[in-house]
Parts: sequence; structure tokens; C-alpha cells
Amino acid sequence: MISLYIVVIRRRVLVPILLCLTWLAVFGLVLAGLLPERRVIVIDPGHGGIDGGTSSNGLLEKHINLQMGHILREVLEARQYQVVMTRTDDSDVSHFVPEGASRYRRDLKGRVRLVGRVRPISLISIHVNWHKDSWRRGAIVYYQNGETESRLLAEAIQKELNALQPVQRQVRAADFYVLRNTDAPAVLVEIGFISNPEDRKLMQDEAYLTKQAEAIRAGLEAFLQQLNPSAESSRGRS
Ligand SMILES: [Zn+2]
Repeated sequence: MISLYIVVIRRRVLVPILLCLTWLAVFGLVLAGLLPERRVIVIDPGHGGIDGGTSSNGLLEKHINLQMGHILREVLEARQYQVVMTRTDDSDVSHFVPEGASRYRRDLKGRVRLVGRVRPISLISIHVNWHKDSWRRGAIVYYQNGETESRLLAEAIQKELNALQPVQRQVRAADFYVLRNTDAPAVLVEIGFISNPEDRKLMQDEAYLTKQAEAIRAGLEAFLQQLNPSAESSRGRS
């Protein structure tokens, strides 16, 4: 009985001591610069749930966005980024925000609220374009008008995406709720035109989406290198 009592007392004392030691060890490593910097990227596959986004020939934007989101996640995680997705299945994000505004507005607010909580180094929103002129094609990267870092990120990604496509596109300044309300450098990538037969075919080709995801990753890394050359070059060696 006495020995059991001692064991209980020891556990009560030992657990806090071990927790303190662990905390001190982690804190020491952070101070010594031995732990990698926190590198969180938010991927935001647009639409979801009852909001299908744009569509053509029965193909819904929301499904393409989600598939691309998952592929981009894998590509970034393979490079040791921490990835948070605003949605991982066919649902919208309006449940993050209590009743009040319209579902559409609550969905956008929910995405912004999640980004605010996560505080990523960058936000990449994925969408699909549509135009009444079916000849228009190619991926286009949008950034919030007036945000210099977001423009640089958009240009870096656009450059990589242009290398994959027959049409050379320019980045576009826009005023989108999710971009406007995000502090981190943020872009919205329209990966192609669902209204164009060639683009529509490519959007259903996982190998092509993977190439696009690699292009987005390369653009992101070129941008981060531009912002902080020493950190990114040491990362490149690892
Ligand atoms: Zn969209």
C-alpha cells in the first residue's frame, strides 16, 4: 500500500517535471535555431457543397478545385510545408460563421476566419475560369489590387504556369473578398477555362494538375526566396 502511494506521488511529481523539461528542450532548440521555421500555407479550394461554382458539360468547378487542392497539398507537404485546407471534402465553409449573413457571405467569411486563425505565410485560393468566348484559355493568377507582396507572388506563380501552357497570361489585379481580408501574401489561381475544350480536358487529367501544382510550388518558393534569400537557400540544401 505504501509502495503504491509512493508510485502515485512520484507520478504526480514526475509528470510536471518531464513536461517542464520537454518544454525547456524545445524552447532551447528554437533559441538555437535548430528547429525549422513554421511554414504554414493555406490552400483554399473555392466553392463546395451546394455552391458548385462555374460549370460546363456537367463538370463542376468545385470538384476540380478540390482535386487540385489535394494535389497541391501533397506537392507542398513533400517540401516540408505545413498545409491547412479550408475544405477537404465537398462542403462549403459557411458553418464557421454563425447565422446572420447569406450562406455565400458566411462561406467567404468562414474562409477568411480560418486563415486569420492559422496565420499562414501564404494563401493560395484555387478556382476555375469561364468565359462566353470558348477560345479563351490558360491559367491566370489574381492578386488583391494594391498589395505588392501578393503581386510578386502572383507574378512568380504566373511565370511558372505560363511555361506549361501555349498562351502566355499576365497576372491580374482584382478585388476579391478572401484576398482583401487576408494579411499574408495571397493569390487566387484560376487554373484554366472550363468553357474551353482543351482546358476542360486538361483539368480532368491528374498528371496535368500535378504539373500545375508543381508550377505553383515553384512560383511560391521563388517568391519566398525573393523575400528571404538566406532562409530559402538553406532550405534548398536540405
Ligand atoms: Zn470559382
